[in-house]
Amino acid sequence: MKLSNETLALTENPYLLLTPGPLSTTRSVKEAMMKDWCTWDEEYNRLVASIRERLVQLAAPTAADDYTAVLMQGSGTFSVEATIGTALPKTGGKLAIAVNGAYGERIVQIAKVLGIPVTVVRFDERCPIDPERFEQALQSDPAITHAAIVHCETTTGILNPLLEIAEVIKRRRVTFIVDAMSSFGGVALDMHELGIDFLISSSNKCIQGVPGFGFVVARRDAIAMCKDHARSLSLDLYDQWDMMERSNSKWRYTSPTHVVRAFDQALKELELEGGIEARQVRYRRNQRVLTDGMEEAGFSALLPREWQSPIITAFRYPSSDFSFESFYAGLKKEGFVLYPGKLTSEPTFRIGSIGDVHPSDMDRLVDVIKRFYNEK
Ligand SMILES: *Cc1c(COP(=O)(O)O)cnc(C)c1O
Repeated sequence: MKLSNETLALTENPYLLLTPGPLSTTRSVKEAMMKDWCTWDEEYNRLVASIRERLVQLAAPTAADDYTAVLMQGSGTFSVEATIGTALPKTGGKLAIAVNGAYGERIVQIAKVLGIPVTVVRFDERCPIDPERFEQALQSDPAITHAAIVHCETTTGILNPLLEIAEVIKRRRVTFIVDAMSSFGGVALDMHELGIDFLISSSNKCIQGVPGFGFVVARRDAIAMCKDHARSLSLDLYDQWDMMERSNSKWRYTSPTHVVRAFDQALKELELEGGIEARQVRYRRNQRVLTDGMEEAGFSALLPREWQSPIITAFRYPSSDFSFESFYAGLKKEGFVLYPGKLTSEPTFRIGSIGDVHPSDMDRLVDVIKRFYNEK
């Protein structure tokens, strides 16, 4: 079938997404979804198996044999909920959560809904998690069996000090769960070196796929102990893993086949780019061009540079009469979509630097913003 010009126009992107998922993806990633793929045969299962292997290589490059990956239908939160609800035993477990933003709060909410006992250690949203204070909380309560943190708190764009927190967790010998949703694929890490037991991310963040599933990379020994823990049938991470292990990477229920194909393409493109380190350099450059330009235009970033991730940047409102709605609408017309703030303490908006986005895009954005402000 030949596509009409009108149909072709529909495939052009109306704007660049500067949001932390869904984000701007390459044309080739989207094109991988233009066929109806079947779900039960060997070819598809081999593809899923290969995706799982590549995820393990990316997450635990120095000890891949000790780790395994599970894919789970739904958005990233479904995978967080599946992990929390499956990692903690039905009785006798207690989860400590270090919170410095909305995604940390979401883990607290998940645990509460599931009836899991928690210790919550809260920090100012504009500061990183303090490993020492987290350690004190772990030390003072021997009932704690598991600890969870968010790596990049997408609320502010802060990068929590994973290495220092990992040292604490190793000393306390509790199971370590990391929500690396918005950082995995954009910030290099090694689960083995860090002693992470469960690491969670999703298809539509730094791997640069489209939304539709999440994934968990787990230490084999850790997930193997989780049989019959789950408080949910469809979000039973152990069962999903067990099925994938025993049945050639078969999913238990209908899987997002198109999204899986797009994700496979996205993983190939990550490799072509030079892997996570190379992508991290590009994101870092995006973030730098963005922040320098925004500062020239009169905006100030919420965080000092040393805490800032390459993923997303929060900016303060430049004045009390600043209207984010009109700023947003004006920029959308010019081809850029930003993200509202999520901070409780002061008004901010956010600009993502991840996805198929390049320093030249940030230059164009900053030019438009400067023009906007000079006209006023
Ligand atoms: C995006 C994100 C999630 C998951 O959000 P969904 O809307 O469910 O995809 C969880 N944690 C963090 C840190 C995130 O950035």
